[in-house]
Amino acid sequence: MKAGVIAVQGDVAEHAAAVRNAAAAHDEPAEVVEVRDAGIVPDCDVLLMPGGESTTISRLVHREGIASEIREHVASGKPVLATCAGLIVCSRDAKDDRVDALGLVDASVDRNAFGRQKDSFEAKLPVTGLDEPFHAVFIRAPLIDEVGDDVEVLATVDGRPVAVRDGPVVATAFHPELTDDPRIHDLAFFPEREVVA
Ligand code: GLN
Repeated sequence: MKAGVIAVQGDVAEHAAAVRNAAAAHDEPAEVVEVRDAGIVPDCDVLLMPGGESTTISRLVHREGIASEIREHVASGKPVLATCAGLIVCSRDAKDDRVDALGLVDASVDRNAFGRQKDSFEAKLPVTGLDEPFHAVFIRAPLIDEVGDDVEVLATVDGRPVAVRDGPVVATAFHPELTDDPRIHDLAFFPEREVVA
């Protein structure tokens, strides 16, 4: 499996480790490549959109010509895991002119919703498809405030979606790459073959 981590900005190394762990659990070798330029995404089987700063990530993926390649990747049904700022960039509407959202997840987001209340918090989160709750780390996290009919809500906090699946894209407001639990990466990349915790 060739996994591309969109590496223009954000927590890239942690995602690389998590995708390697998820693939190892399936005895699948994973080659992880960092994507900073156009021309790499078309060779990738799966993509990761890390957290970081969504305004920066948005600007750079468009400037480098990566944005259209990510759209084509999703249009051909290949998986993406987008986390935190990655969720914001992949959303339909980030309600911020500095984020040219890719529209890959039919959801609108409030960029710093949780961040304004508390900078970060952690929660034991029940997630659809996982047998045991997931230790979720939220850092200046966005809140999903509205989802389209075809979006499956996988987890909520206070009744608001924080993990969703829209076709081949799984997106989380929290950071699954910051724990050593690869189950969210597994859910995104091996949807038919999940490993029991
Ligand atoms: N709220 C941040 C943003 O708008 C994202 C924070 C994060 O990725 N941890 O980009």
